[in-house]
Amino acid sequence: MRAIVCENPGRFETTEKPEPTVESGQVLLQIKAIGICGTDLHAFAGNQPYFTYPRILGHELGAEVIGVGEGVHHVFPQDKVVILPYLSCGQCIACRQGKTNCCTQINVLGVHTDGGMQERIVLPANYVRSVQGLDFQELAIIEPLAIGAHAIRRAQIKPGEWVVVVGCGPIGLGIMGQAQHLGCQVIAVDVEEGRLRHAREFMGIQHGVLAEDALEAIQAFTSGDLATAVFDATGHRSALERGIAYMAHGGRYILVGLSKEVLSFSHPVIHAKETSLLCSRNATWDDFEQVIDYLKSGRFPVSGYITNQLPFTEMVDHFADWMDPRAGVIKAMVNL
Ligand SMILES: [Zn+2]
Ligand SMILES: [Zn+2]
Repeated sequence: MRAIVCENPGRFETTEKPEPTVESGQVLLQIKAIGICGTDLHAFAGNQPYFTYPRILGHELGAEVIGVGEGVHHVFPQDKVVILPYLSCGQCIACRQGKTNCCTQINVLGVHTDGGMQERIVLPANYVRSVQGLDFQELAIIEPLAIGAHAIRRAQIKPGEWVVVVGCGPIGLGIMGQAQHLGCQVIAVDVEEGRLRHAREFMGIQHGVLAEDALEAIQAFTSGDLATAVFDATGHRSALERGIAYMAHGGRYILVGLSKEVLSFSHPVIHAKETSLLCSRNATWDDFEQVIDYLKSGRFPVSGYITNQLPFTEMVDHFADWMDPRAGVIKAMVNL
């Protein structure tokens, strides 16, 4: 079977691998759709620290079950499935509290261990669930949307709240869609007009403002109150440090995007606001289930979200094109 291996930064190689065999407690899957994420682009570009090569990328996956090992009774051949790509140890302090998303020994498919850019893969059965009523591409976008669902759950947002989401990429758009779905009033912030336009046109976000004008605009929209929940989905240090200014007194600031740097905040400012500072990492099955219901509601504009597509056999030749900002990629999808 074929696998696409990222041999080192900037180079993919299509290789022939032995067919995987399924053992007790495992499932054998045929990969059908692979969503491309910032993580994959960074790994390919070589600016993903702590990343080791060669690696098979891909953690946003839609698949079909083609074999099950002994003792597996919750999925069956021909089931369409979604994959929870965060392999956790089950024993550490985080896992014991059900917070498998921040396991001390976490292994993310396509990052710490080989992922889904291959025709078939064997996984422990408890990382796979059947989903009816969604197609393979929809299955593959559950993971990036679940990152947003987790952040929203961390923030415990309620209908009617003013919510600011900084960053109109795939994670930010997912947060916006779900916050709107919950009845919040959403303000999108980005540094690029094109991305704000996309958020307006395809996501129906009514309030989109450029970062440079954001504070005044948010004050105006909220009658001076500011937003009770602010999500950062950029992972950029300057945005992360600025976002606190958009938050109301008594509000929550939720860090979803990951920066590699040290952040600094003025203590008098965050203290005066009694800031709840929340980081949000990965997601759990509860978040996946939330997203599955959301997608089934038909209220997420899947076709506006998936902006670029290619067949598996053409991915190697065109992957680099997706890194050009002029391509306007939000979510690229590889189909098998
Ligand atoms: Zn991802
Ligand atoms: Zn653990």
